[in-house]
Amino acid sequence: MKAQTPAKGIMLTSKWHDAVAYCIECDCTNPDHGVDMWIEAEADEDLHDTVTVTFYVKTTNEYWREGYSRIKAAWDILTKGVHTQSNTLLLSKQAALNFAEVIKTTVKELDAKS
Ligand SMILES: [Zn+2]
Repeated sequence: MKAQTPAKGIMLTSKWHDAVAYCIECDCTNPDHGVDMWIEAEADEDLHDTVTVTFYVKTTNEYWREGYSRIKAAWDILTKGVHTQSNTLLLSKQAALNFAEVIKTTVKELDAKS
């Protein structure tokens, strides 16, 4: 199995000099499960040789967990500033391979520009 171009499950959405954005679709086709991924070259001198990979996801509360309470979740946010949420992205083996290849090639492209 080899990475594909164009790649199943991975869509290039925007490209700039120092950043590239992709949309990664969940294999179940629910658009709420999809993830927007930004890969950015770090221009900061202290962070050279690094890239920033940011995932923008729509998360859900852990309502299925025993004892879960929205009131407690709200209280944790107010008093501790934290709350656990999750998002599951289902990828076919081909899409997972494409996902890995996109990260690899984007990092190479950004590295060549910096
Ligand atoms: Zn899904």
